[in-house]
Amino acid sequence: MAKNSPIWHPFTQHALFPDSIEVTSAKGVYLHTKDGRKIIDGISSWWINTHGHCHPKIVAAVQEQAAQLDQVIFAGFTHEPAEKLARKLVDITGNGLDHVFFSDSGSTAVEVGLKMAVGYWHNTGRHRKTIVALEHGYHGDTFGTMAAGARSVYNAAYNPFLFDVVHLPFPDTPRGENTLEAFRNLLASRANDIAAFICEPLVLGAGGMKMYSPEILKAIHGLCNDYGVFFIADEVMTGFGRTGTLFASEQAGIVPDILCLSKGLTGGYLPLAVTLCTGDIYRAFYSRDRAKTFFHSSSYTGNAIACAASLAALELWDEEPVLERIKNIKLWHGEHLVKLAARADVANIRQCGTIAAFDVVVDAQSGYLSNIGPILHEYYLKSGVLLRPLGNTVYILPPYCITQSELAGIYETIFRSLDDISSLINQ
Ligand code: PLP
Repeated sequence: MAKNSPIWHPFTQHALFPDSIEVTSAKGVYLHTKDGRKIIDGISSWWINTHGHCHPKIVAAVQEQAAQLDQVIFAGFTHEPAEKLARKLVDITGNGLDHVFFSDSGSTAVEVGLKMAVGYWHNTGRHRKTIVALEHGYHGDTFGTMAAGARSVYNAAYNPFLFDVVHLPFPDTPRGENTLEAFRNLLASRANDIAAFICEPLVLGAGGMKMYSPEILKAIHGLCNDYGVFFIADEVMTGFGRTGTLFASEQAGIVPDILCLSKGLTGGYLPLAVTLCTGDIYRAFYSRDRAKTFFHSSSYTGNAIACAASLAALELWDEEPVLERIKNIKLWHGEHLVKLAARADVANIRQCGTIAAFDVVVDAQSGYLSNIGPILHEYYLKSGVLLRPLGNTVYILPPYCITQSELAGIYETIFRSLDDISSLINQ
């Protein structure tokens, strides 16, 4: 347990990291701590924050909604914030995603997506059961989403309980021949058993910020279409501008059958998620037969305050130059990455929109358990920068309100950490 606290923090080995930093306030890109420090949030507080912390418009929307209607049972009841948000999401996600199911986290958005796909085949009497996913994928920490994700140290203890999923090799060549070939072979032999394919479009986040091209994504989507396999886009991380466009799928010119969104949905203010689906999927559950109901809910489904935060966050896209900010971040990242490329101690420099990543070359163990990750994390924090490397992969994913000089400050710290790395490892 944490020292002096009953809290068991997520993804935290308390025996190694007993203390948590107490944050008392946040504004824009900065977190202010109880011990008087100001830390720049280089990872948007686990990839959720889009417009900066405590934006007055979102704060006001939350306050106003909290005084009006907090939460109401969402079965048989509805409310204006959810209705307006659902319509807006249908509007901005492109042709065909006409139905919106609310939940409250990225994991539940994906869980719902998987259940919609499998439930569709069940309700239409065809019983396709197999889920196909990408190697290194991450879709959440519930059992269904762990099953769809990569089998790794994250879920080793639970492996015996995870249902079988076919994992296609990650597309690690520019045209993704390995992935496409494996998918084609699978479809040729057992398409009639495949319920859905799920992936994180363009960027596999927790798997190490692994990136692949829109062309490959489009080709995979094409194969799904050819064989009547549902395409589930898990845009929990890539949604709301991270990859340079509102949704990553747009860059491939595709519309998924099922789209999972959370994180940036509320601008990073409150837990909320949605799973959008096509009319075809919705109709498989629409029946006078109650046994065909979509049996899924959580108590806080469609929380009115979270919906109001989300509406305000979405309005900001029209009221502030958000796309221009995203374009600038993309450009500024590019300038710093060119300088990083000149170093021998970094490899696999990559970028997709506002996300930049590279691997630190170390002799020691690579992957999530590489010791270099926590060592660098500590170093960055001491320098007033929040970055949380995934093993030896360092990535920067800032809120969109970051300025050119603030981002340059993050890169200065990164450069310094690389210069100091041998002394850090030998400490
Ligand atoms: N899907 C993706 C692509 C994610 O990156 C994450 C979280 O990082 C999730 C799902 C799970 O989201 P949550 O942590 O809100 O359950």
